[in-house]
Amino acid sequence: MFTLAGRTTLTLFDNPEDIACPSCTATNPLEILYGLPSNEMQIAEFEGSIALGGCVIGDDSPAYRCRECSHEFGEV
Ligand SMILES: [Zn+2]
Repeated sequence: MFTLAGRTTLTLFDNPEDIACPSCTATNPLEILYGLPSNEMQIAEFEGSIALGGCVIGDDSPAYRCRECSHEFGEV
């Protein structure tokens, strides 16, 4: 069940708390989701829970975006 209440939003998505940015070592990056965004995904992006990467995904599309330095990294 999708809800706007706090961290329960993240249960829909992977929780990247343990993932560190290779550029600045900050953890808990935004997960970048691809494809046509659902209403839930748009709300999650608005809340800052995820980032939307657009409809086209390529071999080099990053999986995460750092909250601190906006560096994008990882593999989808
Ligand atoms: Zn960073």
